[in-house]
Amino acid sequence: MKRVFLLVPFVLLLAHAYDVRQTATHKFAEIAPGVFFATGGDKVNVGSNGLVVVNENDVLVVDSHISPEAARALIASVKTLTPKPIRTVVNSHYHYDHSNGNQVFGKEVDIIGHEFTRKKLLGDVLHEATYLNNGSPATQQRGVAPLEVQIAKASGDDKTKLEAQLATLKRHIQELAEVKPTPPNVTVTNKLTLYRGSREIQILHLGRAHTAGDLVVYLPQEKVIFTGDLFFNGAPYLGDAYPTDFVQTLENLKKLPFTVAAGGHGPLIRDRAQIDFNQAYIRQYWAQVKSFHDAKLSAKEAKARLDLSKYSAFAKFQLTAPGVLDIEIGRIYRLLEGAE
Ligand SMILES: [Zn+2]
Repeated sequence: MKRVFLLVPFVLLLAHAYDVRQTATHKFAEIAPGVFFATGGDKVNVGSNGLVVVNENDVLVVDSHISPEAARALIASVKTLTPKPIRTVVNSHYHYDHSNGNQVFGKEVDIIGHEFTRKKLLGDVLHEATYLNNGSPATQQRGVAPLEVQIAKASGDDKTKLEAQLATLKRHIQELAEVKPTPPNVTVTNKLTLYRGSREIQILHLGRAHTAGDLVVYLPQEKVIFTGDLFFNGAPYLGDAYPTDFVQTLENLKKLPFTVAAGGHGPLIRDRAQIDFNQAYIRQYWAQVKSFHDAKLSAKEAKARLDLSKYSAFAKFQLTAPGVLDIEIGRIYRLLEGAE
C-alpha cells in the first residue's frame, strides 16, 4: 500500500478551515455549529482528545482526559466557549487517558459509559498492565531524567521550552497520585439517544473492539462522530482489544454516514478510506501473531518476527512505547488460547 496517510489530514485541514479557539491549555476546532474538537497544548498533558457539544441549555463533553488536572483545565476552557453548564460526560472507554478526569465533575453531572466501562472502573484498573506499562506515575517518571539531561545541554529558548515541558511532566506525575477511578453512573449496552433542544446525540456501542465497552458519540444531523480509540489516525493499541471483533466493529462504523470523525488521538479524519487501512493493520497483526502461535513459537519469538513495517506510517504511534508489543502479543496469545 503506497498511500502516505500522514499527509492526508494536513491536506484536508487546508481544505476545511474550521473556526479555531485557543485557551491556555486547549484548542477547540468548531467542526459543526456548537460542536468542538478539543485538543491539548503544552501546558497540561491532556493525554487524549475530547469533544465538546454545546446544546440549547447545557454542554456534553466526551472523554475526561488523563488526569484531574487536565479535566479541570478542560472545564475552565469550556467556560470560554459558553456560559452553559456541563451536565453530561461520556467515556468512550475505560482507559486511563480517557477517564482519569471523571472525578472532578460535580454531582450534577452524569457520567455515561458502557456497562463494561463501569465494571472496569469499579475494579482495579490502576494495577492492570495497560496502566502500569503506559500511564502510571512510575512510567511517567522515566521521562524525567532524559529531559533533565536535555535541559543541561540546552540554552536560550530551547532550554526555556524544555524546562516548561519538565514542569508539565512533574505536575502530571503528581496529579496521577490523586486519581480515583470514577465509574459512569449511567450505563449503555447498545444505544442511548439524548435529545437536547434540537440536537440529537446518539451514544452507540458498535461491538467489541479496542476494549469490550467502546462507545462512539454520533450526531446524525451534523454527520459528526467521536470515535475514541476505536478509530483514529494511528495504530490502535491492542493490549485489551478483541482484534477479530475489532475488524467487524469497524465494518459497522462504515454504516454511519459521518463526514468527519474525531478520534481519541491524532487529527480529525475526513477520509473514510482510513477505516480500511486500520482494518488491514489489525487483520495483518492478528494473522502474523496467529501464525507464530500455530507454529508454537513463544511470545518472545513472535515479537522478534512480527513485521508491521507496511504500516509504519502510523505504527510508530504505539509500537515504540516500551512494553506495548509484549502486552499486545501476550493478549493475542491468550485470546487464541481461549481467554474471553
Ligand atoms: Zn484506549
